[in-house]
Amino acid sequence: TLNIEEKVFAIADQFDHQGKIVQIKPFGNGNINDTFLVDLDGQTQTSFILQRINHQVFKNPAAVMGNMVRVTTHIKQKLQRQPLERPWLMPEVILTKNNQDHWDSGTGEFWRAISFIAGSESFDILTDPAQAKEVGTALGIFHQLLSDLSPSQLVDTLPGFHHTPIYLQQYQRALAQNPKLTGSLGPEINHCQRVIKTWLDQCGVLETAKAQGQLPLRLMHGDPKVNNILFDRQSGKAVSVIDLDTTKPGLIHYDLGDCLRSGCNLLGEETENWSAVEFDLDLCRAILEGYLPQCQHFLTAADYDYLCPAIVLISFELGLRFFTDYLNGDRYFKVKYPEHNLIRALVQFQLASHIQSQEDAIRRMIEDIRG
Ligand code: ATP
Ligand code: MG
Ligand code: MG
Repeated sequence: TLNIEEKVFAIADQFDHQGKIVQIKPFGNGNINDTFLVDLDGQTQTSFILQRINHQVFKNPAAVMGNMVRVTTHIKQKLQRQPLERPWLMPEVILTKNNQDHWDSGTGEFWRAISFIAGSESFDILTDPAQAKEVGTALGIFHQLLSDLSPSQLVDTLPGFHHTPIYLQQYQRALAQNPKLTGSLGPEINHCQRVIKTWLDQCGVLETAKAQGQLPLRLMHGDPKVNNILFDRQSGKAVSVIDLDTTKPGLIHYDLGDCLRSGCNLLGEETENWSAVEFDLDLCRAILEGYLPQCQHFLTAADYDYLCPAIVLISFELGLRFFTDYLNGDRYFKVKYPEHNLIRALVQFQLASHIQSQEDAIRRMIEDIRG
């Protein structure tokens, strides 16, 4: 039998790379997939990324890869026809020697290879408005590049993702006969329940707008957090958006909300000091100043109207998901201590409430940038 290292070498060799593999090491700090960097020697020296797809999360890895090929091919062709005015790179899917977009071990493991964006780095927390503007620009470029690919070309690999009313139903199911809700409840649990009550009538705002045709179904990234954007080490400019597992039909509002939620919370989503969490308006402005000019040619008046509600809703939604997972005994989000998901929920609820209290300012900001 092979040890782990030999096993990964053998898997890397299933893919159609150009050269001899000299080294493989674990790479990056992703939470979902297992990621390795494979170094090759020789003239055509090009390292590549090898990933074991997490099929607990992605039940249909073949569909995830089909989407990824569709998206990267579309973007590559579009960039050839209409180059951007700035350097931009798209990871490409490297096929197996049998021309497949992933390698299926036959024993329940699914692996893929993608080209490596060399000379780049990513960040977990934003501090600098110039960087924040780059993050917004990168998300805008990604949406713009996909704005002419029909959403029907991609498979919905995560049905119900960002459908807030479905998360609410899951919460309501978790409430029934929950052992955590017997006896005298801690103030934090009471607080979460009170917050959720105030949202019962509003949490369908995006889904209703989508169902009524006010907001068009488009292609979205699905996980546009800061560390999925690669910056060139030399220029400090964003050069790529990676981690395309969740790219699928949806609303661009989910992405922008998610990006702002994660990018403008200076204490980060893992802070335990939840009552001090704030939504930073300077970083918000910088992200919007990067994002909106990239997308203004396809955003409709209704799109703009729902940007602000989306930013609040997406923060609330994540809080709701954390709290539900806490009630369910931490089945989905890994925890480091027993109250971890409860604290994470409080962080997001605090963020949502701080965004809500600044909604007028954010709305004016959007108007102002639109000009
Ligand atoms: P997440 O927790 O964000 O969902 P993940 O487990 O899905 O992460 P990725 O984001 O795809 O994994 O990859 C993990 C890390 O590996 C990235 O944050 C990045 O640092 C690095 N990485 C992935 N793909 C590339 C690439 N094509 N070029 C350069 N670096 C890459
Ligand atoms: Mg990632
Ligand atoms: Mg990911």
